[in-house]
Amino acid sequence: MSEFEHSPQRHASQVELVSGYDVERVRQAFPILAQRIYGKPLVYLDSAATSQKPQAVIDAMSRFFLAENANVHRGVHYLSVRATEAYEQARAKVQGFLNAERVEEIVFVRGTTEAINLVAQTYGKVHVQAGDEVLISAMEHHSNIVPWQMLCEQSGARLRVAPIDDAGELLLDQLERLIGPRTRLVAISHVSNVLGTVNPIRRIVELAHARGAPVLVDGAQAAPHLQVDVRELGCDFYALSGHKMYGPTGIGALYGRRELLEAMPPYQGGGDMILSVSFEKTLYNKPPYRFEAGTPNMAGAIGLGAAIDFLGELGAQAIAAHEQAVLAYAQRALATVPGLRLIGTAADKVGVLSFVLDDIHPHDIGTILDREGVAIRTGHHCAQPLMQRFGLAATARASLGCYSSERDIDALVAGLARVREMFR
Ligand code: PMP
Repeated sequence: MSEFEHSPQRHASQVELVSGYDVERVRQAFPILAQRIYGKPLVYLDSAATSQKPQAVIDAMSRFFLAENANVHRGVHYLSVRATEAYEQARAKVQGFLNAERVEEIVFVRGTTEAINLVAQTYGKVHVQAGDEVLISAMEHHSNIVPWQMLCEQSGARLRVAPIDDAGELLLDQLERLIGPRTRLVAISHVSNVLGTVNPIRRIVELAHARGAPVLVDGAQAAPHLQVDVRELGCDFYALSGHKMYGPTGIGALYGRRELLEAMPPYQGGGDMILSVSFEKTLYNKPPYRFEAGTPNMAGAIGLGAAIDFLGELGAQAIAAHEQAVLAYAQRALATVPGLRLIGTAADKVGVLSFVLDDIHPHDIGTILDREGVAIRTGHHCAQPLMQRFGLAATARASLGCYSSERDIDALVAGLARVREMFR
């Protein structure tokens, strides 16, 4: 048996090594993982695209619809009050998760994409003028590129891009040089969805703040893996998506520093974001409600709150230690696959493994693995400029979650052997 073939005894003992983290028990919390695909056990290695949902999240959302559903904020009746309480409790959970100073600093949005568009079209519209600059990096997801491009088109500002090296790490000295007197905002991912790189946000915030530029952090890929503390990071905005962190789709959060949110104009107009409306003049509500026009995704917020509870029960540090152990195992295992090249080898990275295999098209890799029950993602991962940086059109990407195990990696490696056989 090769080092990377499945051996239940060895797995059981290795699990114990990671501070008592019992991955088999964690997996049992996710009903979807128990199924078979084409007669093979499901090996879900696509958590960076969306994570699976634990029973506790599914139950919290069902409970809301079964016993609490009513519109929030506007009702005096029992259910409306209860729904409002549940929705606002979920906001407090996000506040706690991010260690934000105040609950009013948490705006519910559809996800990271909406959070970034919100900042671009409110903060950006007020503060970014012709000749100004917005600084991003070469490893951004399209959702942290296009909203800034749109703002630059509208305002006549210029988008600047901090480069990265071949390992997929930011070139900090070059980033520093790009922060100039016209930089109005630095928008940067905490963790890259393609490379897994963890960016040194605290340092970037120091550099930007020293030149008076606020920092927005795209935390879509960080929130499921890292202990996030917006006060420690010192950032001005932080965006996350519920569905990447074991919560439902259609919900996410934007953290914004209170002074900034208070000075920002509304995003969308409608119900809930107003204090009073007449045909002559509308007075806007205070944050966070100013930015939450219309009936919000109440069940989504409650589901996100349940996901945060779930993460808290497992413990951010325990999850990180477990995922790092599986990542190290995966890196060793993938190094044994002839012709495989990892894209993204930063010293500080999470469990995102992008790779190419000889000249086999990543879609072919993904399709063959799928027949083995192994779910990975292939393509440009909504980061086409990053792909260009590496001279690639696409990669295959296996990504880990709290339920990923060495057995998943063994299945991946066995599947890749099959891919190679088919292309021999
Ligand atoms: N940023 C990063 C780094 C991401 O990985 C993603 C999702 N792939 C997003 C932003 C966008 O998140 P969402 O689609 O949930 O809005």
